[in-house]
Amino acid sequence: MKFLSTIEGEGKERILKELESIVGSEYVSSSREITFLYHWDFVTAEKPGCCDFVVMPSSTEEVQEIVRLANREKIPVIPWVSGMNFGGICIPRKGGIVVDLRRMNKVLEVNEDDMYAVVEGGITWGDLKGYLEKHHPNLRAGITWSPAGTGVIPPYICYGMLDLGFIGGTGAEFINGLEVVLPTGEIVRVGSCICTNYWLGRAPLPDLVGLFIGWDGTTGIVTKAGIKLWPNLPRKDFIIIADTVDTGVKIFRKL
Ligand SMILES: Cc1cc2nc3c(=O)[nH]c(=O)nc-3n(C[C@H](O)[C@H](O)[C@H](O)COP(=O)(O)OP(=O)(O)OC[C@H]3O[C@@H](n4cnc5c(N)ncnc54)[C@H](O)[C@@H]3O)c2cc1C
Repeated sequence: MKFLSTIEGEGKERILKELESIVGSEYVSSSREITFLYHWDFVTAEKPGCCDFVVMPSSTEEVQEIVRLANREKIPVIPWVSGMNFGGICIPRKGGIVVDLRRMNKVLEVNEDDMYAVVEGGITWGDLKGYLEKHHPNLRAGITWSPAGTGVIPPYICYGMLDLGFIGGTGAEFINGLEVVLPTGEIVRVGSCICTNYWLGRAPLPDLVGLFIGWDGTTGIVTKAGIKLWPNLPRKDFIIIADTVDTGVKIFRKL
């Protein structure tokens, strides 16, 4: 099987140099050994793809510069956290730049009163859970059953299934607001963070969060997100024994 880059020669060298000037040479690669790791999604039997560059930004501004460069050169951009989604949706199909967001893995703010956190776009479940357990043990997020190294933002923006789904719905319903770098490079915010310092909900303006949900990252790269938090109740694990699934679900809802 051949893995061919879509950009070769002088053009590739030039773009590589520009990416290096944005994030530093240690956070960009076009080598076959590194890019090969991003050609797969690890959990499906989807055919591998091929990217030309892997780049690891550390800020919204760096993401913006990368996207502007890609837009100018008309090459695809694929946001990536761990590539462990079930759909092969971040396999690079037409070359381009994989934007590995895992350096953007911080919790920027926790508001205990309004029960939300503001997190960066590449944060993993391990990062988030570890932070909350250490600094805010009375609060928790809705989480998936995926490995600790997988991304928080992907299941929130891709209608993922969270353990609090019975209370709140899909991952999308747990988003209060987003900061997104659009494919043209503009930075936009949606949710209450547009017009206040608080990321506590989607009001008061028209709700535009949907522009970035269910699009699998194709309408923009999420660099920050306000996500709902919940009381961390002492009772977490229980077994329900019921004669039918319907009865089990009814009991579960009451709990
Ligand atoms: C054992 C196992 C159990 C799992 N359990 C669950 C579960 O219970 N519930 C569930 O919902 N999922 C589950 N998953 C699926 C998946 O692993 C999780 O949803 C995970 O959190 C996704 O993160 P990721 O790092 O794999 O995303 P990635 O595969 O890196 O990205 C997924 C998509 O989001 C896009 N994307 C990533 N980051 C951004 C960003 N910042 N801005 C814009 N687009 C972005 C990517 O381009 C891609 O299209 C499970 C997977 C495994 C292997």
